[in-house]
Order: sequence, then C-alpha cells, then structure tokens
Amino acid sequence: MMSYYQKLLEYLDVGCGIRDTRSGIRDPGSVHPASGIRVLETISLKSWPIPVRVKKSQYHNGRVLVAGDAAGLTDPLTGEGIYYAVRSGILAAKCCHEYLQVGSPSLESYTKAVNDELMEELLEANRIKYLFNMVPLKIHHFVRDSDRAWRAFVKILRGERWYADVPGGFGKWQVLWGAACLVSKWIFLFKESRFSKKGFK
Ligand SMILES: Cc1cc2nc3c(=O)[nH]c(=O)nc-3n(C[C@H](O)[C@H](O)[C@H](O)COP(=O)(O)OP(=O)(O)OC[C@H]3O[C@@H](n4cnc5c(N)ncnc54)[C@H](O)[C@@H]3O)c2cc1C
Repeated sequence: MMSYYQKLLEYLDVGCGIRDTRSGIRDPGSVHPASGIRVLETISLKSWPIPVRVKKSQYHNGRVLVAGDAAGLTDPLTGEGIYYAVRSGILAAKCCHEYLQVGSPSLESYTKAVNDELMEELLEANRIKYLFNMVPLKIHHFVRDSDRAWRAFVKILRGERWYADVPGGFGKWQVLWGAACLVSKWIFLFKESRFSKKGFK
C-alpha cells in the first residue's frame, strides 16, 4: 500500500514524500524540483483495517453484545462506521433496557434488530462495492457526469435515500444491474483466490 500511496502523492505533485529507504524517496527537507515545495519533514503513516461484516450474524452471546466496529458494522463501500456505531449503540441500549428492566429472556432481540435494520443496508452496499471496485473510474465518471446519479448519490450520503433504493433507480435495467453486481463479485472472488494462492494475503 505504501508504494501505491507514494505514487498517488507523486501524481498529485504535492511535493511530499514518504520516508522509505527501500524506494529511495526524496529526503525530507529538500525542495521538490517541479513544484518548488519543500518536502515535509516526516510523515508518520499508520494504517488500520476497517472491520467489515459481509453477512448476517449473531451479535450477542449470553449477557454480552457487540456494537459498531466490534461487530464489523461499517459501510463496505465507503468505510464509514460512525453512523452504524451510533445506530447499533442505540439498538444495544434499547435491548439492554428491555433485558434489565422489562425482563426479556435474552439479548436475541438485539441480533435481530441489527440484522433487520442495519445489515440489509450494509449487504446492499457490499454488492455495489464489488462493481465499484471493478470499474471505479467508470462509476466515478458516471456519478460525476450524470445529474440524476449525482443527486441520488448525495441523497444516500445525507441519509435521505438508501443503498437498497439503488437497484430500483435503474427501472427496467434493474436485472442488468443485479447481474453486473453478481458478475463483479465472482470476478473479485476469483482474483482474490488467485492472490491467496500466490501468497498475497
Ligand atoms: C483512519 C480512519 C478514518 C475513518 N474515517 C471515517 C469517516 O470519515 N467517517 C466514518 O463514518 N467512519 C470513519 N472511520 C470509521 C469509524 O472511525 C469507526 O467505524 C467508528 O469510530 C467505530 O466506532 P466504535 O464506537 O464502534 O469504535 P471506536 O470508535 O473504535 O471506539 C472504541 C473505544 O473503545 C476503547 N477501548 C478499546 N478497548 C478497550 C478496553 N479494553 N477498555 C476500555 N476501552 C477500550 C477504545 O480506546 C475506543 O475509544 C474511520 C476509521 C479510521 C481508522
């Protein structure tokens, strides 16, 4: 990932480099020849995997329940998890209240609520993710250039529409959209299995 990131910085030509002895990156403090911008002293880079759950599951066990990142409730398409952390937290609080005050027999209702209210949306985002990752530029250009697609996208970001509404937006092409998502998923899984065989995990 570091070499990809370095290429991006070079492409953007912002004049900063990652201190990486293996790739002979520009020294911090030197001046970038093209832009004349001084290379940043040190960029400290850290990465962290975003936990993404891609199928419905159980989120409680006995008197324990998991919410937010701990439950893998993040949007697979955007990597956003704050919204789902808050939503699952609210559901968790409600179920705990019922368990402690009202005397529900278990926290099963929490698992059901997460699967019904949050996972459907996240699974739809995951379907779209496969297609997006296969042709990211094309989809980016489509959303950028189509007024209708852009408005729909912004509505999803605002929480006024849902990923689940996306297939319906294609009208009579809905079947084609579903097929494209499915095919891109197969291609992804095929590529992933080849990567795994070669030792890239
Ligand atoms: C670099 C990065 C950028 C991101 N950008 C976005 C974004 O732009 N938009 C978005 O929506 N999401 C973003 N996310 C995802 C988002 O931050 C998480 O999905 C969200 O914060 C999850 O909330 P949470 O409450 O489940 O977990 P956290 O926010 O991780 O909270 C868990 C808390 O538990 C504490 N903790 C851990 N172990 C213990 C322990 N043993 N005892 C006591 N406390 C403990 C931790 O210190 C932490 O404060 C980003 C994530 C990363 C890593």
